[in-house]
Amino acid sequence: MFSFLKVLARNLIQGPSTDPFPFGETSTPKGYRGRVRFDASACVGCRMCEHVCAGGAIRFGESESGLRFTLWHNSCTFCGLCRHYCQTGAIALTEDWHLAHRQAEKYAMVEEGTVPLVSCLGCGIAMIPVARELMRRAYGETNGDIDRLRRLCPDCRRKTAITGAKKCRI
Ligand code: SF4
Ligand code: SF4
Repeated sequence: MFSFLKVLARNLIQGPSTDPFPFGETSTPKGYRGRVRFDASACVGCRMCEHVCAGGAIRFGESESGLRFTLWHNSCTFCGLCRHYCQTGAIALTEDWHLAHRQAEKYAMVEEGTVPLVSCLGCGIAMIPVARELMRRAYGETNGDIDRLRRLCPDCRRKTAITGAKKCRI
C-alpha cells in the first residue's frame, strides 16, 4: 500500500511520463526514416532508385522537358534503399513522419520532380547533365573546365578526353 502511494505521489508531482501526442509535442528518434525528399538538380537519371525499390513506389516518366520522378508515399515502406543506392545524394529520407492519411488522399502523398534536359555543349543533343556531386568526387574540385565537362554528352566527353590525351603526348 505504501509503495503504491509513493508511486501515486510521484506521478502526481511529475505528471505523465508518456508524450502528450496528439495533443502536444513529441520527439522524433535520431535517424528516423520518414518522408522522402527528391532533389531534381542532383539526379542523373540512372534509375537505380526505381530498380531497387521493392515497394514499387518510384516511377520515372520521360517527356520533352525532362525526366519526371514520382514517389508514392502510399506504397513506400521507408526501407531507405533508394537513398542507399543513390550515388548523387538526390534522395533523402527526412524525419517527417506526419504521413497518416486516408486512402482517398493518397494522390496528395507524393514527392515529385522533373530532371531537366539540357543541350550538350558539343553537339547540341538533349541530355541530363552529370551531377555536381559526381564531378566533385571524380575531380575533387570545381572549375570552368570541369563544369563544361558536366554539360557534354558521353560521346563529346570521350572526344574531349582523347583530344586532351593526344595534346599531352605531343
Ligand atoms: S535519384 Fe539517384 S538513384 Fe534515382 S535516378 Fe536520380 S541519381 Fe539515380
Ligand atoms: S524508402 Fe524503400 S520503399 Fe520507399 S521509395 Fe525508397 S526504396 Fe522504395
